[in-house]
Amino acid sequence: MSREYRICNTCIMDTSDEEITFDDCGSCSHCQRFETIIKPQWHPNEEGEKELNSIVEGIKKRMQE
Ligand SMILES: [Zn+2]
Repeated sequence: MSREYRICNTCIMDTSDEEITFDDCGSCSHCQRFETIIKPQWHPNEEGEKELNSIVEGIKKRMQE
């Protein structure tokens, strides 16, 4: 272990992960992946709620048939 110990500013990942890298803000590669890949497809807002509600309504309808 020659690397300096470091922990992510955003999550709890640290240099015990050998693959981990950190950006200028001190966020790790896992957080970067979340920001670039997952977040664009995730809508924890009104839009996402509408989307979810329409799915729920669809299921309810199917259950009544
Ligand atoms: Zn992180």
